[in-house]
Amino acid sequence: MIRCAIIVPCFEEESTLPLTHRALSETMRRMIEVGEVSADSFILYVDDGSHDHTWDIITSFSGSGQALKGNETPVLTEGVRLSRNFGHQYALLAGMEYVADKCDTCVTIDADLQDDPAVIHDMIRAYKKGAEVVYGVRSRRENDGWFKKHSAHAYYRLLNALGVDCVYDHADYRLLGSRALAMLLEYKERNVFLRGIVPQLGFRQEKVYYRRGERKEGRSKYPFGKMLEFAADGVTSFSVTPVRMLFWLGLIFMATAFGVGIYVLIRYFNGETIEGWTSLILSIWFCTGVLLFGMGILGEYVGKIYVEVKKRPRYKISETTKA
Ligand code: UDP
Ligand code: MG
Repeated sequence: MIRCAIIVPCFEEESTLPLTHRALSETMRRMIEVGEVSADSFILYVDDGSHDHTWDIITSFSGSGQALKGNETPVLTEGVRLSRNFGHQYALLAGMEYVADKCDTCVTIDADLQDDPAVIHDMIRAYKKGAEVVYGVRSRRENDGWFKKHSAHAYYRLLNALGVDCVYDHADYRLLGSRALAMLLEYKERNVFLRGIVPQLGFRQEKVYYRRGERKEGRSKYPFGKMLEFAADGVTSFSVTPVRMLFWLGLIFMATAFGVGIYVLIRYFNGETIEGWTSLILSIWFCTGVLLFGMGILGEYVGKIYVEVKKRPRYKISETTKA
């Protein structure tokens, strides 16, 4: 029988958690009852250093299903609390590392119920048919605003163009079998962009489709700035194409300068006066712009190296609901 762990990263989700817990335990209960997963499957909430009552709520859930009605099947629930806010990707990672030796398969899902929990059934079914990785893919985005939808699509296109293999319209709602999970945990990099790493794992990968709903309660924890940062991470953690582009740009500039040099020399030997300062000023501005641009890209990579070589711990669990 398959032991399944559902991992839920939570950052200041006190308003959503009761709803989420009800929906997820309902899903889990049904799966246990029909024998899709074993009775010791569990839900794991990862509190990513929330300042509100998230942890208290998680603690109140933990154990084998509180306030059971009649002969309802109990659903095991656990909690893990990070010592501070490490961010969504690290909360997921903490959860996955925590469950790695406790389950056959794990499913990660956001706390805000935007992703339909009923799809977990389909994921488990695909897993039983031999898939090691099952992506939850949004079939429609009508609940995202115009900007989020179009910026996200442009971003996926950019990533693919830069050679980063990633699944279109898939967030971090996915199932991983224990082999894929074990391999994922061998990626020891600090700049974690799971959406880029998972496709690299290989194994058999499947997709299941669902309609993404609206956030049930609370507000998005991804304001514009954080979204940009996440997007930049996705590019610079996986692709060296920007640096290569710089290289080719440099070559083109040198070739051009060579051509211009010949032109200037010919004019000089013909006794014609050198052109005025307009072209000079223009080229100074232009070249400075290119240099700064290049330095910016290089800086991004050097920054990544700087963080990697420090080999800092990626997260720390401060307490768990287990005694
Ligand atoms: N989250 C987290 N740590 C953070 C930010 C977010 O664990 O620093 C969690 C959050 O509680 C939610 C999930 O990550 O379960 C996705 O966040 P959100 O729904 O705010 O993002 P959006 O769906 O708006 O992109
Ligand atoms: Mg959300």
